[in-house]
Amino acid sequence: NSTQACLENDISGTDNKGFKGHDMLAPFTAGWQSTDVDPLIIEKSEGSHVYDMQGRKYIDTLAGLWCTALGGNEPRLVDAATKQLNTLPFYHSFWNRTTKPSLDLAKELLDMFTAKKMAKAFFTNSGSEANDTQVKLVWYYNNALGRPNKKKFIARAKAYHGSTLISASLTGLPALHQNFDLPAPFVLHTDCPHYWRYHLPGETEEEFSTRLAKNLEDLILKEGPETIAAFIAEPVMGAGGVIPPPATYFDKIQAVVKKYDILFIADEVVCAFGRLGTMFGSDMYNIKPDLVTLAKALSSAYMPIGAVLVSPEVSDVIHSQSNKLGSFSHGFTYSGHPVACAVALEAIKIYKERNMVERVNRISPKFQEGLKAFSDSPIIGEIRGLGLILATEFANNKSPNDPFPPEWGVGAYFGAQCQKNGMLVRVAGDAIMMSPPFVVTPEELDELISIYGKALRETEKRVEELKSQ
Ligand code: PMP
Repeated sequence: NSTQACLENDISGTDNKGFKGHDMLAPFTAGWQSTDVDPLIIEKSEGSHVYDMQGRKYIDTLAGLWCTALGGNEPRLVDAATKQLNTLPFYHSFWNRTTKPSLDLAKELLDMFTAKKMAKAFFTNSGSEANDTQVKLVWYYNNALGRPNKKKFIARAKAYHGSTLISASLTGLPALHQNFDLPAPFVLHTDCPHYWRYHLPGETEEEFSTRLAKNLEDLILKEGPETIAAFIAEPVMGAGGVIPPPATYFDKIQAVVKKYDILFIADEVVCAFGRLGTMFGSDMYNIKPDLVTLAKALSSAYMPIGAVLVSPEVSDVIHSQSNKLGSFSHGFTYSGHPVACAVALEAIKIYKERNMVERVNRISPKFQEGLKAFSDSPIIGEIRGLGLILATEFANNKSPNDPFPPEWGVGAYFGAQCQKNGMLVRVAGDAIMMSPPFVVTPEELDELISIYGKALRETEKRVEELKSQ
């Protein structure tokens, strides 16, 4: 079965014996994995590489979890953290008390986000908390406006918005719902905008986008527009499989959302700060969001931090209603943690000083074209991506409708071949995802492309064998 196939292909613990059955209930890890296989224990990082306990070196093509944008050893981030730890390791931001780094970071983010004017920033520790905050903000906003029924959210199949109760509900992946009694009843899911997988025969990208916008409108009308509060979307879907939107998609979706006075939330957790070749994903697709979610590259992951940006239209309502509704009673001990904010400020300074967006545009053609050159492989259905984000989807006969049998574990086998050759990729079924650090060098990309090619040839051979059995 597929679990067995994954197990056979899982070489996580090859060099790190003695840690299986460890004491951690590990995130997104199957019970059999942590009991039967030694974990891969990463000890050190350097540029786009990480090293395990035995000193084996891997190119980390996912930048941790799509987050270490400045790579594994940026001394300026360490200095920024150390300096802040030595001055003021902690103070909170409750009751109109706060710290200078959090105020400075809020101002910086509002200045940077130009796709639509933003008026306020709220800080969290993670992307999940930020998306939970979005839901509470939107509910508070509609309560303030006297619209107590306008509370439902529409997200998309295959979206990833986090794993807390509410953010996991927004997420459109069955694994985050099954056995957790989710999604919450106020969350609805509309179509995943994956053209290759879901377009009808003869349908162009534009026609596909038109159909999806029509389906969204039908859903809104069926539920009653007066009950729908907000629509949330990643500019390019990340963990659900790196799915860039089809042509004209966001123009058409935004028109529908606007028509029914529904707020648009751009979840920029993966796309922000240059990954797509623009500072924000909203810039790439002309998205004019009412609310924005940030995390990950915000601090290049050196400290946990997330943020919500709030447009003046929403924040004015929240502020003006404070006499009626009382204080905005939402926040975390570590909202605006000064060390995290100081690190984020330094990360942003580096992105700007080093023209990181321009760098991504300079280096990404090598990444995209180097890997897309493998598209002809008989076991690859689609290679998709832009900037420094890409996915490979394995499929039989290059068809979205002809997946390999799950028990063959084709994706897992490819991932294991990469790992054996010194490269870590994200495997999700038969999709393989990559989002290297923004600082990835041309030499590191050569290495990445060469290991990918080697792993692909091994996987092609394996599929041939399985087919002939
Ligand atoms: N939104 C998106 C688009 C994400 O990719 C993620 C994390 N992969 C999250 C939200 C949740 O962030 P976190 O894991 O920091 O809670």
